Amino acid sequence: MKQKDISALLDEPACAHNSKGKSGCAKPKPGATAGGCAFDGAQIALLPIGDVAHIVHGSIACAGNSWDNRGTRSTGPTLYKIGMTTDLTEQDVIMGRGEKRLFHSIKQAIDSYAPAAVFVYNTCVPALTGDDVEAVCREAEKRWGTPVVPVDAAGFYGTKNLGNRIAGESMVKYVCGGREPDPVPEGIERDGFKVHDICLVGEYNIAGELWRVMPLFDELGLRVLCTLSGDARFREAQTMHRSEVNMMVCSKAMVNVARKLKDAFGTPWFEGSFYGVQDVSQALRDFARIIDDSDLTARTEALIAREEARIDAALEPWRQRLQGRKVLLYTGGVKSWSVISALQDLGMTVVATGTRKSTEEDKARIRELMGEDAVMLDEGNPRTLIDIVRKNDVDILIAGGRNMYTALKARIPFLDINQEREFGYAGYDGMLELAKQLCLTAESPIWEAVRRPAPWAQAVAPQHEAPPIAAAETADAEPVAVEASHA
Ligand code: SF4
Repeated sequence: MKQKDISALLDEPACAHNSKGKSGCAKPKPGATAGGCAFDGAQIALLPIGDVAHIVHGSIACAGNSWDNRGTRSTGPTLYKIGMTTDLTEQDVIMGRGEKRLFHSIKQAIDSYAPAAVFVYNTCVPALTGDDVEAVCREAEKRWGTPVVPVDAAGFYGTKNLGNRIAGESMVKYVCGGREPDPVPEGIERDGFKVHDICLVGEYNIAGELWRVMPLFDELGLRVLCTLSGDARFREAQTMHRSEVNMMVCSKAMVNVARKLKDAFGTPWFEGSFYGVQDVSQALRDFARIIDDSDLTARTEALIAREEARIDAALEPWRQRLQGRKVLLYTGGVKSWSVISALQDLGMTVVATGTRKSTEEDKARIRELMGEDAVMLDEGNPRTLIDIVRKNDVDILIAGGRNMYTALKARIPFLDINQEREFGYAGYDGMLELAKQLCLTAESPIWEAVRRPAPWAQAVAPQHEAPPIAAAETADAEPVAVEASHA
């Protein structure tokens, strides 16, 4: 990829960070790892497309570093679960065999699995040796008649976020517009009931949470042409250009896709979230508002009224158990505010929230929800998080997997909210799951047990009180580094 193409991707007019004079995202700070590379970002963005053979063109470590690091789920094909790589060795580099190996790898993938398409991810080594990945893909596609899509995202091009954009760019350039959507089956549309086509961009179906919102769209007659990329199929991604509205779900990672589809096909888009009752309702209302179909609007309002009443009643027993409990939320981006409203719906108090990767608009929304004095953490190292927990008597820390060991070693109840989570919290029913998991975590008997002094300590000094937790932390629970390479 040429430098001017990388610069163009970093200069994204639809991203709020651009207006602050920054070029793309913040640079890593000393002492913190940089997170995933561009290749990692590109691969996790597209890996959930289930019927595609994903080939990593590079040394074996690249594939090992990033394969399947999100708990994304598929209703059908599981081809995306098979790790494929050209496994370049130094001999291949010395002998200039990179392109040949790639060509044969594509053939092997097609012969063995008959995939709907092959995606080829370029990585550092072949990018440095100058393999023409695009030409190899073109030739392979011509030879075997299966679409072969190059994703030129060598790690040294930049950050994981840039990789997300490169992935989006490849989809717009090589995939979207490849075919027309299937016709709506006869007998579904009738007077006053028209099916509208929509797309979700940046929804990865982690822990199957997309399946909690799909029934709502079905009921409203909103056909999801494609989710980029949770539980998606290649043939669905080819029809994205026919969407009437695109929703950027909870993330700006692939905002360039939404913007480019708007520029090329005039498709309007909005940013929303499926976390929390209010946000789900708002997302449905935004679809109806933009599509501007009076019948759809009426049906949307009826569905929202019914679902809100149902979920309100179902949440009541959980609310009583969670009422007044204090939470420290350390996540980033849109979730820094969308999860706040979900927690407040449950009667919980959020004492502070992380704002890493949040935009100025995200921060304004946090202030709206938590008041002007809201505590926002731009940088939450383990010591800071533990201090806030102790100072504010926090009952539960909600954060990403990278903070799990910080919490557990300090004996703080912890719930994973990021991409490694095991439960889906999206949609109205996702709130019930969230409430249940919060209760299970906060009320688990394990906390009382681990905070008790060990039996041998009691035997030696039975008259002594249990050591204070803070002392225990300094003795044997030195917090671990907060950053992990692929979180
Ligand atoms: S930085 Fe380069 S070598 Fe390392 S994982 Fe990313 S693409 Fe592979």
